[in-house]
Amino acid sequence: AVVNQYAPFTTQTVVEFVKTLSIFDHPNRLIANEIGDGNLNLVFQLVELETNRSIIVKQALPYAKVVGESWPLSLNRAKIESESLRITAKVVPDLVPHVLHTDHELACTVMEDLSDYNILRTELISNHHYPLLAEHIGRYLAQTLFSTSDFALHPFVKKELVQKFTNPDLCKITEDLVFTDPFFDHPTNDFPTELRPAVEAIWADETLLTEVGILKFQFLTQAEALLHGDLHTGSIFVTSQSTKVIDPEFAFFGPIGFDLGQFFANIILNALSKLATTERPALLSELLRTTERTWITFAQEFTKLWDESNQEIYTNVSGILPRFLLKIWTDAIGFAGCEIVRRTIGLAHVADLDSIEDFHTQIEIKERALQLGADLIKSRTQLYSLSHFIQRIKGAL
Ligand code: ADP
Ligand code: MG
Ligand code: MG
Ligand code: MG
Repeated sequence: AVVNQYAPFTTQTVVEFVKTLSIFDHPNRLIANEIGDGNLNLVFQLVELETNRSIIVKQALPYAKVVGESWPLSLNRAKIESESLRITAKVVPDLVPHVLHTDHELACTVMEDLSDYNILRTELISNHHYPLLAEHIGRYLAQTLFSTSDFALHPFVKKELVQKFTNPDLCKITEDLVFTDPFFDHPTNDFPTELRPAVEAIWADETLLTEVGILKFQFLTQAEALLHGDLHTGSIFVTSQSTKVIDPEFAFFGPIGFDLGQFFANIILNALSKLATTERPALLSELLRTTERTWITFAQEFTKLWDESNQEIYTNVSGILPRFLLKIWTDAIGFAGCEIVRRTIGLAHVADLDSIEDFHTQIEIKERALQLGADLIKSRTQLYSLSHFIQRIKGAL
């Protein structure tokens, strides 16, 4: 009875649930621990004592706890996360956790345990470098985005998928927290008083606000491909050999450049934080190379898929691919700018900047982050090549 109707799992009930799934040979010897951060979802690790085999159960909670107030969130996002992981596994099985079971009623996904991996954000903060990361993320993005776009799908299939991945609650979080609140004097914003003059410069910049409005409208309306939707460095698990992208609960059909932009932004935020360290020149060039190689891999893989596809109305007209890649590139830079600004002054910060110990340095670096973010948003149509983009970032570092 306990496992049929939605209720948040406890370490006891999650074991009862997993016992019903015949995943383990010794289901009476399971130990569960909650290992998530507990804001939007519960994440349990279950270990079988005899064999040390383990799995993860991630369950959605019906609300988000944000600064003391709670706002309701659809449990449907668990289904979206599961379905997204399964669709992604069709094109890049090596880059996502394997899904073992999905329960829509209980809003949970049972998946491969990746506890041998580390979260990329923490690794980058600790100055660790992952040489395969750019190739992995570039290939992940090209494969997932191309295969769910109208360049690969029959228009009937595409439109059915768009309906299936309507994700209004989670999109609203992005619409508010990435594209709106940070650009106005909104109560969800969070920044120290010392940063106020720089923040007010953002709020007073009409040209910037116009461009942010355009980018927000693109996010709302351009159903180009099935996005991950939350591709920051906390959604990426790494080892020296392997990369796994987790947590696609924000998945929906949006502009392709959004995922690229969020990834770039989080790498750039980490690069900015290295201005406070002594190893900075080597680390900075590695991080810039990561953004460069991610784009190069993405464009190469996307082109390969384009050439192989047989949607003849697109692929036999040579001018379309370069035009489309330029659009993705320009959008990615704009979205990266929005992400840099919101991670600096909005509701959800990044540890890369907040963990800078010397407060004066932290403020200085956050001021640079705001300037760079605003600059990328406003200049995105002039930064029409990779080297322009890298030069612009170098200028801010
Ligand atoms: P949320 O949507 O709440 O952010 P995540 O999917 O990002 O949830 O997971 C939160 C944390 O739980 C991760 O940072 C990681 O520490 C742990 N976790 C999630 N999935 C796995 C997994 N498959 N294997 C091991 N740990 C995981
Ligand atoms: Mg963790
Ligand atoms: Mg999440
Ligand atoms: Mg997460």
